[in-house]
Amino acid sequence: MELTGKNFIAGQRTGSGKAFQAENPATGKMLEQSFYEASQKEVDEAVHQAEDAFNDYNKKSGKQRADLLEAIADEIIALGDVLIQRCMEETGLPEARLTGERGRTVNQLKLFAQVLREGSWVNARIDLADPDRKPLPKPDVRSMYRPLGPVGIFGASNFPFAFSVAGGDTASALAAGCTVVVKAHPAHPGTCELIANAIQRAVEKSNMPAGTFSMVQGQSTDVGLAIVRHPLIKAIGFTGSFRGGKAIFDEANKRTVPIPVYAEMGSTNPVFILPGVLKEKREAIAKDLAASVTQGVGQFCTNPGLILLQQSEDGKAFKDTLSGSMAGSAAGVMLSAGIRSNYERGIEKLKGATGVTVVARGKSEGEGYRGVPSLLEATADSFLKDHTLEEEVFGPSTLMITASTREEIIRAAEKLTGHLTATILGTEKDLEDYKDLIAILEQKVGRLIFNGYPTGVEVCHSVVHGGPYPATTDSRTTSVGPAAIFRFARPVCYQNFPQTMLPDELKNNNPLGIWRMVNGEMKR
Ligand code: NAP
Repeated sequence: MELTGKNFIAGQRTGSGKAFQAENPATGKMLEQSFYEASQKEVDEAVHQAEDAFNDYNKKSGKQRADLLEAIADEIIALGDVLIQRCMEETGLPEARLTGERGRTVNQLKLFAQVLREGSWVNARIDLADPDRKPLPKPDVRSMYRPLGPVGIFGASNFPFAFSVAGGDTASALAAGCTVVVKAHPAHPGTCELIANAIQRAVEKSNMPAGTFSMVQGQSTDVGLAIVRHPLIKAIGFTGSFRGGKAIFDEANKRTVPIPVYAEMGSTNPVFILPGVLKEKREAIAKDLAASVTQGVGQFCTNPGLILLQQSEDGKAFKDTLSGSMAGSAAGVMLSAGIRSNYERGIEKLKGATGVTVVARGKSEGEGYRGVPSLLEATADSFLKDHTLEEEVFGPSTLMITASTREEIIRAAEKLTGHLTATILGTEKDLEDYKDLIAILEQKVGRLIFNGYPTGVEVCHSVVHGGPYPATTDSRTTSVGPAAIFRFARPVCYQNFPQTMLPDELKNNNPLGIWRMVNGEMKR
């Protein structure tokens, strides 16, 4: 399939703006094909078309929207190897990883389709009228979730499928009944174009309005910010760095009419190793942790970037094994020159902080923009004095924090800001002994992991991929799993409406057979 480098504006391909190219991070060479940065006029057109399309798309049934999501999944698979090859060139990620991520993306779309076919997600609530109630008659009150309107979506470079053009944000927004305008990621613009083609074909085949989906290219932040500022945009879905997410969040709050920004940002994902398990399994934990830190060159938002434990002989032995594993790990190609230089800057900044020392560096050889695995160390005392030690260094590094007492571990936990995950490695007895730690961590993260590692995220109904600020700008939601749909919907109440004017979900005879709360009781 030929790339054109153009923008997708409601089924039309346009593009005459400033040209840019993608770079292969494994070779440092620019890839063929220019992409054309969208103008303000093109962004405006995309958003207007999304608004027009919304008036039609939001009336489509759950089944029709499910058909669209499944058609997108089929079209992505139909792209075949071309998609994987282009993505490998643009990201340096290996084939097996990308094939797996494509599978996750497709399954995610299908999971939202299942949720729509089942239909109960709308949270239908019905309180029947009671005209005889004294002293005042009770009105008929019914409510359900309805879509917000056109949504702007930003993806991250490290998940070019699962958190990009057809990723979880787009899937959940389309599932909720919103139309979308995607800002393509400039690090993988060709991958974005291929996926946009698949979505556009699915939109056409499913007879959805053309403006249901648009995508604009751009290397400067002006393009994305034009989406955020546009008065017709009703919400933003963002996955990426803290810097990017915060800039977009601030911009949205400056609007005359502020809008919700669901920004899923960086995280350091603290791992607490408790004394009992350290005694029993220190060798295995050290090796598993090194594998988790260096997996995918550390380019996961769930990378374990902080390890906390108490000083002991077991701790020393653990550190030796971890340091040996990290020193023996090879540098891997990172996603882009920018990500690699940010990584090195992050390590330098940590090294310069009071009380931080470098314990081990991995092997640095190899072509391309490589990130060298790094293990650093500080005392809990230094950690408690310097909040910057908690900041994400995106790449294959981790900072080991050694506490001299149990109390210091608890104080370090109390001091944590928001993260996506926290991990507790412990025996049953450790858990009993550290109940207070678990209670603290519950307030700090979206997902607590016991005797596992945070890097893998299961896409399922109960998963929470979110957490208090600065991990996200809204801790009440998740960006992974079907519950992500609620970000792009709001409850609407219909009082004393005639049956014919109610949505099917709220009609007396329950034509869709969904679960509803009727007079306070769940019924089908
Ligand atoms: P990024 O540089 O923040 O880019 C993400 C998107 O944000 C891009 O489309 C980018 O567009 C836009 N952007 C960035 N700064 C902006 C600004 N000031 N104004 C307007 N738009 C802006 O992130 P990345 O480097 O691609 O991804 C890596 C980061 O994502 C890591 O920190 C990782 O932890 C995080 N991440 C988080 C999750 C999660 O679920 N929490 C998942 C994956 C990754 P432009 O390039 O046009 O600026």
